[in-house]
Amino acid sequence: MGQGFTSRVLIIGAGIAGMQAALDVANAGYDVVLVERAPSIGGRMAQLSETFPTLDCAQCILTPRTVEVGHHERIALYTYAEVIGVEGEIGDFQVRIRRHATYVDWDACTGCGLCQEKCPTRVSAEFERDVGERKAIYTLSPQAVPNKPVIDREHCIFFQRGKCKACERFCPVGAIDYEQEDSIIEEQVGAVIVATGYDLYPLTRMPEYGGGKTPDVIDALAFERLLSASGPTAGKVLRPSDGRAPREIVFIQCAGSRDPEKHMPHCSKICCMYTAKQAMLYRHRVHDGQAYIFYIDIRAAGKRYDEFTQHAMEDERVVYLRGKVSRVFRQDDKVMVWGADTLSGQKVEIAADMVVVAPAVIPRPQTTILAGMLGLPLDPQGWLLPRDTNMRPVETVRPGIFVAGTGVGPMDIPETVAHASGAASHVLKLFSHSCSEREEEWQLVKERV
Ligand SMILES: Cc1cc2nc3c(=O)[nH]c(=O)nc-3n(C[C@H](O)[C@H](O)[C@H](O)COP(=O)(O)OP(=O)(O)OC[C@H]3O[C@@H](n4cnc5c(N)ncnc54)[C@H](O)[C@@H]3O)c2cc1C
Repeated sequence: MGQGFTSRVLIIGAGIAGMQAALDVANAGYDVVLVERAPSIGGRMAQLSETFPTLDCAQCILTPRTVEVGHHERIALYTYAEVIGVEGEIGDFQVRIRRHATYVDWDACTGCGLCQEKCPTRVSAEFERDVGERKAIYTLSPQAVPNKPVIDREHCIFFQRGKCKACERFCPVGAIDYEQEDSIIEEQVGAVIVATGYDLYPLTRMPEYGGGKTPDVIDALAFERLLSASGPTAGKVLRPSDGRAPREIVFIQCAGSRDPEKHMPHCSKICCMYTAKQAMLYRHRVHDGQAYIFYIDIRAAGKRYDEFTQHAMEDERVVYLRGKVSRVFRQDDKVMVWGADTLSGQKVEIAADMVVVAPAVIPRPQTTILAGMLGLPLDPQGWLLPRDTNMRPVETVRPGIFVAGTGVGPMDIPETVAHASGAASHVLKLFSHSCSEREEEWQLVKERV
């Protein structure tokens, strides 16, 4: 033992959690292999407009981090890639990574964007939560790191019908490569951090809120994209159906959360805060607009969080209605919201221009597959289970494998960053010991299991 110890860490997922852990480890002088499924890094935070409680521009505080990660000499970044195998044990894991074909030679590409401009195909963009479009050759956003495009085979005219090649014709450096294939990369690492993040419960599973089929009923991440200066409407709040500014918006909290009979049993923890933020930002964009928020109760635990929601109610004149919404449906060009105000005991009917649903925060489906591969247990909802929720929140039952961020459960950004730094500090502890100390530490870690 001790011979095969590799002081290099694999981090899976490059949202704010994975990036924070990567920078902590790399800036301490150790090598990092960072693997991200999407074509670029940043995760959900890259989709946000402004962040509670400070209303900082999310992109402005994120970009210095994404750029640092992208250029760090100690971080080997593999985007558009997935881990397909992990063998071995603490100190000596062998990792197999599949890098998906981008059909663009990223070494040659200068990121000029001409290929995207000339591509004739427009499709609904996942990153924009379907309130915006992208081309068949695309980057996730103008601030993407790496700022190199990928071709989506399913929508590319050349891959589907054998003609077009507009991107190839216009690329000034000949970077388009339709023959490119997936590649397999092998790495050896001494520790692993899983930072695979969260998803939102799909609107299609909530028929009571229109089932994802009602125009102008969107989820909260889609609303973030409408609020974002780099989003599809350049930060203007416009209805997806007709491009008009909505005069009345209803926000629905706890959609699919705290509902063990029909949906998810847990509290999603962040929705009270981000809904207050979104209602405020809407009022900043549409000054004569009226925002209503349906809530069960307000859970704003955090420094200056309660003051933030109070500010929304008192100074921004957002109307809070305590109660549940029973039905959302389209009538003419309005979205009808039927609910109850349990404080006054009255039925409420609002003819809104738009409805924003705050769905349950749920684990990503890929995390289940990864947990199976790594031998990590999940809780009944599918969240990664730390070794001890109270005292060992970033360790797992497998020595040398740690968890960071919202793959463990809902968290806001400050908590995610702190959790990720916690995971990084455990990795650094392992790497920083002298050989003999490390052997003892290994022994202790193994005995604890
Ligand atoms: C509508 C909304 C508004 C919000 N507003 C705020 C706010 O104002 N302030 C605040 O503090 N918080 C806010 N949050 C919460 C914030 O989004 C999260 O705290 C934060 O983004 C969590 O980061 P993460 O890195 O844990 O997860 P993610 O951002 O989900 O990152 C995980 C990354 O892992 C990648 N990944 C997943 N599986 C794999 C795999 N198998 N292999 C490789 N890569 C993988 C994903 O592609 C992703 O890039 C908001 C959340 C929502 C839904």
